[in-house]
Amino acid sequence: MQTAPSQVHASKSSLGEGSALVPSLVVSIHDVSTVTKTRVVAMIEDLKAAGVPVTSLLVIPDHHHKGRIDADPEFGEWLREATREGSGQGDQGHEAVLHGFYHLRPTKKGEGLATQMITRSYTAGEGEFYDLSREEASSLLLQGNAALAAFGITPTGFIAPAWLLGEQAEMAVRDEGFDYTTRIGEVIDCKNGCSFPARSMVYSVRAPWRRGVSLLWNEALFYALNESPLLRIGLHPPDWDHQSIRDHALSCIRKAAATRQVTTYARWLDQWRVSGH
Ligand SMILES: [Zn+2]
Repeated sequence: MQTAPSQVHASKSSLGEGSALVPSLVVSIHDVSTVTKTRVVAMIEDLKAAGVPVTSLLVIPDHHHKGRIDADPEFGEWLREATREGSGQGDQGHEAVLHGFYHLRPTKKGEGLATQMITRSYTAGEGEFYDLSREEASSLLLQGNAALAAFGITPTGFIAPAWLLGEQAEMAVRDEGFDYTTRIGEVIDCKNGCSFPARSMVYSVRAPWRRGVSLLWNEALFYALNESPLLRIGLHPPDWDHQSIRDHALSCIRKAAATRQVTTYARWLDQWRVSGH
């Protein structure tokens, strides 16, 4: 959904009042599922040692059809404990965010080249919410909420796989009552449509050349974002398979956590709202 001019104005004015916002760091772990849980547990440990006791955990209910979270009591117990108040820092816990349902986009017949480039090449076919109808998106969101509800968890945020959220799907996210969503360059308050510009750091590790470019890009981005009120760092489980990527991410995170409030998207949104955007 395009941001209306009035909304752009609103987001700019909120940046103008940015002094009211405490400089913050949100680290998100994407693709948390029954498939990746062991790796995610290790990432959480490393992040805690780097000064980040709370993260936003982007949970896939049935990762590539390989195992529903609500059919895995051990996963449920772990997620419930991780998101429990008091499990992280002080009275806070990690946040569970709904992140697609299968994290897989079925290939459709008659796709144009541009669509193919975006959905197959850029995202390796994982842009599940890129071109769903409003009804299809709503159905998956409801199923995702039900899967998390099995553990007594009600997510307030939805983040589309690969941040590819189509217009129809964004309407569905609002329809289903989510508080916020994010794209790679912004956080969107679903209740009023305001958008907060904040580019996320994210690594690409699928090929050696991507890892090389990714390190240079994220190094530059980290310094470019030094003054930004909200620093977002998005991590994926495969990042931890590559020592150079893991070291770089943890180094940036350590530096940022020393000078910024470490929080989750949901709690950051609360502060943004209080700041009067
Ligand atoms: Zn993902």
